[in-house]
Amino acid sequence: MSYPKFIIDKKKLKNNAMNALKMCNNLGIEAVGVVKAVNGLDKVIEILIEAGFKTLASSRLSQLKKIKEINPNILTYDLRIPMLSEVDELVSCADISLNSSLEVLKELNRVASEQNKVHGVIIMTECGDLREGIFDEEELLNTVCTIEKELKNLHLLGIGTNLGCYGSIMPTPEKMMELISKADKVSEAIGRRIEVVSGGASTSLPLVAKETMPKGITQLRIGDALYISDLDDCFDYKVFSDDDEAFTLQAEIIELKDKPSHPIGTIAVDAFGNKKEYEDKGIRRRALLAVGRQDLGDCLHLRPLDPNVEVIGGSSDHTILDITESEHCYKIGDIVSFHVMYENLLMLSQSEYVEKEYI
Ligand SMILES: *Cc1c(COP(=O)(O)O)cnc(C)c1O
Repeated sequence: MSYPKFIIDKKKLKNNAMNALKMCNNLGIEAVGVVKAVNGLDKVIEILIEAGFKTLASSRLSQLKKIKEINPNILTYDLRIPMLSEVDELVSCADISLNSSLEVLKELNRVASEQNKVHGVIIMTECGDLREGIFDEEELLNTVCTIEKELKNLHLLGIGTNLGCYGSIMPTPEKMMELISKADKVSEAIGRRIEVVSGGASTSLPLVAKETMPKGITQLRIGDALYISDLDDCFDYKVFSDDDEAFTLQAEIIELKDKPSHPIGTIAVDAFGNKKEYEDKGIRRRALLAVGRQDLGDCLHLRPLDPNVEVIGGSSDHTILDITESEHCYKIGDIVSFHVMYENLLMLSQSEYVEKEYI
């Protein structure tokens, strides 16, 4: 037994994945399973395949390669706009990729021809979140027509968009209609109906759940919402209850002391160079945990299972809890459990310092 430990409940994960898949399928929407948030962990890939996912996606080619090794029949889907330097590798391990520049598409076409393949592409369009995607409509139509007419080793599957990432823009029925209207123009320009209108990531799932997703969206790319239920704050929607959450972090208490809540001395910056403010709540009971930002990113995103425990901060190797209000009598050596948020999931899954245990 070693801590910190990341516990993954296989049955709950499969169940949550199946529910998301079913919810989408019921509205005629294809759900693509995204594995990048769990570092493409083998067992998670296997569980998503068991749950019924036919297409799995990641931003990292090594994870796509692993998916093909686990099951060559699963379609692999690259989420990040390809680097020119990875196009060779990409065509050999990905069936589909998201793209936004003709320069890259031409190179994809050349390599696909070399490898005797037809590579599927989805063109990203900008709907306001301002990460990847074509903003200008003329450029979009020019791009799709060039693929259709000239790039014979590419198959234009359709278009897509990304929301809720850089610009924090919420997927709404209006944003989806904007994408559908672009899709209609693309279909008209190339003279056939495109198969895929890819309406975003987990943050678009609440529209499916509330049945406000406009007809015409055919695909979502879902990672986060298969694993954790952290959409409720902004999206007024809980994918599954906390009890059904499949991922739990366990960490060990290494110090327990009563201390003042306000630091004593001249305040400069913390271990990561941030200027912070500290509230003075008097003397509090604090527990120090042997897990830190190197293992999990921002510890303030942890969600303690003990509702009366508060995470107050941390550094590379430590997380500090205020346990004053807890009804539980903690001792040194006790294990404290947490559910996590996206950044924690990402970091814990890939950390070599965190044991993964499947139950
Ligand atoms: C990461 C990513 C997704 C999946 O995001 P989740 O929030 O995990 O659902 C979908 N599309 C693109 C382009 C991505 O980069």
